[in-house]
Amino acid sequence: MSILTRAQALRNLRQTLMEAGFETAAIDARLLVLSALDIPATALITNPDIPLTPAEAELLAAFTRRRLAHEPVARIVGEREFWGLPFALSAETLVPRPDTETVVETVLELLPDRQAPLLMADFGTGSGCILVALLHELPQATGLGVDLSPGALETARRNAWANGVGDRSLFALSHWADAVTGQFDLIVSNPPYIASPVIPTLDREVREHDPLLALDGGPDGLEPYRILLDEARRLLVPGGLLAVEIGYDQAEELKTLAAEKGLEIVEIAHDLSGNPRCVAM
Ligand code: GLN
Repeated sequence: MSILTRAQALRNLRQTLMEAGFETAAIDARLLVLSALDIPATALITNPDIPLTPAEAELLAAFTRRRLAHEPVARIVGEREFWGLPFALSAETLVPRPDTETVVETVLELLPDRQAPLLMADFGTGSGCILVALLHELPQATGLGVDLSPGALETARRNAWANGVGDRSLFALSHWADAVTGQFDLIVSNPPYIASPVIPTLDREVREHDPLLALDGGPDGLEPYRILLDEARRLLVPGGLLAVEIGYDQAEELKTLAAEKGLEIVEIAHDLSGNPRCVAM
């Protein structure tokens, strides 16, 4: 195998991925090269002609094979950016989606005072992305991340410390709020909300690589909301806020559910594609 420079390796990989039909070939190639070489993005511009070491070339070849088998780039490099912060991933966590930033944004808009002390809980915290992003924006807040998966909790804890909010976060292993007591000013959640029968039709990269536990919302995809809305009534302080992510087609169902549970919807926020994505109550 001939030794390539960084610029050549990047060009080749982009070409390979394009020819294999990956629409995100350019960004994928860039992220894979940066990760395999463990260099900052600027190094591709300032030092494009440095040859790859044999170890770098080998690692990049392995990354390339995984990508060609449709493993998501975030899984290969083990990290994904969310709210401008880096989040480590594991097999037990969903890859954080840009859509989920809608939840963070909505909560920040609705809170009367971002400097005020507040206690929040995040149910199904996964990588901890919602919890950590909010703690990052709310300097006086303390947060509890809850998950049913010990592996996810470990990843979330690691992400909290890596992003400077470890000392204001707690993590608890619990099926929803079964093991949680106390009163919270704010409850957030991106629960599993895909209806079980729909799971087989999901995009291959989601279906084969995201944990089923984080996707499957039961027969109609609404089971977690029934639980969360009930628990919110028990766990929220009077006037407290509940903000949940929803599927693109679940706004009407959430309205019905909120009415049934006696919760008042204060906002339905849309994601960048224009779909209703966050319901705040
Ligand atoms: N938005 C995710 C997807 O489209 C689903 C995440 C979830 O169920 N919370 O795969």
